[in-house]
Amino acid sequence: MNMTQQLGQQKPAGDPGGQALSTPEHIALVEKRSAHNYSPLPVVIAEGHGAWVVDVEGTKYLDCLAGYSAMNFGHHNPELLAAAHRQLDRVTLTSRAFHNDQLGPWVSALADMVGKQKVLPMNTGAEAVETGIKVARKWGYEIKGIPENEATIVVAGNNFHGRTTTIVSFSSDPEARTGFGPYTPGFRSVPYGDAAALEAAVDHTTAAVLVEPVQGEAGVIVPPKDYLPKIREICDRNRVLLIADEVQSGLGRTGTIRACEHTGVVPDAYLFGKALGGGILPVSAMVADENVLDVIQPGQHGSTFGGNPLAGAVGSTVVRMLTEGPYLENARHLGAVLRRRLKELVGNGVIAARSIGLWAGIDVDPALGTGRELCQKLAERGVLVKDTHGSTVRMSPPLTISEDELNWCLDRFEEVIGELRDR
Ligand SMILES: *Cc1c(COP(=O)(O)O)cnc(C)c1O
Repeated sequence: MNMTQQLGQQKPAGDPGGQALSTPEHIALVEKRSAHNYSPLPVVIAEGHGAWVVDVEGTKYLDCLAGYSAMNFGHHNPELLAAAHRQLDRVTLTSRAFHNDQLGPWVSALADMVGKQKVLPMNTGAEAVETGIKVARKWGYEIKGIPENEATIVVAGNNFHGRTTTIVSFSSDPEARTGFGPYTPGFRSVPYGDAAALEAAVDHTTAAVLVEPVQGEAGVIVPPKDYLPKIREICDRNRVLLIADEVQSGLGRTGTIRACEHTGVVPDAYLFGKALGGGILPVSAMVADENVLDVIQPGQHGSTFGGNPLAGAVGSTVVRMLTEGPYLENARHLGAVLRRRLKELVGNGVIAARSIGLWAGIDVDPALGTGRELCQKLAERGVLVKDTHGSTVRMSPPLTISEDELNWCLDRFEEVIGELRDR
């Protein structure tokens, strides 16, 4: 008898989860019945509260990944849950065939928060990026006058913008890309951080530059301070849109609403996602001025779920929390703590550490082990983080984390590094 049949027999009707299964049983079930598109650490989470999660065995972990920044406001956030609950009891989905009373207030609050005029709401980050690409191409033909089907978009090497066929077409990661061709044409990739290379790739066919202000998946790569200002200037000189993918860097992660703020650069469009849904549902958006977003007319782009009333209720609350709450201040204050403590580790088992706000990429000495091994050992000590590219560990705790909790996490990190060095 297979596991599902057993589960079916054991489970009383109406059982919401699979609490009867142990950790190994859960993992075996997922290994057997879920596609292997991820290789999760062997922790089966059953509940979350603030910066903490609890697994099916009752073990507590400090969640220092926070859903890659989707959980910026922590698990089980009472303000977000109250907003979602209120809306669940009213109406959750209308489609855009009709208006709903949550959309207008949400999009105007979101646009105002970042000083733009309009919003195009979608769901996942990849959809926001696809929206940016479509809008940029249409703007290129209709406003800039690029010859039909010749529009190009300049992107950066080692980018991460999502997983659709078009987006992986301009990824430089063989794992993300190989086997998924034929690839969408119209993209030019240049090394991240190199403004001269970017300028050389721009010509009369260029509609947009699409860039992450800080590259998250690549290992929290913070570009030189003058990089974004130079791109802004190149875009202005060549009449090219600057689109900032702030899906991971935006909404508080770096201590500001937009990572772009650190360099004073104002892009033509922002792409937001992840934390925009408060960790409750996928919510993403492209935010720009009229002269950009007005190229899209009815029937040309959309989504069944984009702009749904539940997303609007949660999204409005996210905007209010960011503008009124302590989250940015906490990310700034604790970001300084994080930076100071990581600096102490450099040379002691850590080769380099980059951080901005509550977001860090830590290159562990490969001689100590892989990033995966380190994450595994941290999990055994109650800290959840995620490796990326070999021996780099990425940290992005919820912005609600306390100083004591952050120090506790870094103490465990130090312990594990020490243990690996001594073996
Ligand atoms: C996560 C991410 C995306 C894709 O978001 P999904 O919701 O997973 O589709 C796009 N851009 C950046 C910078 C991201 O970090």
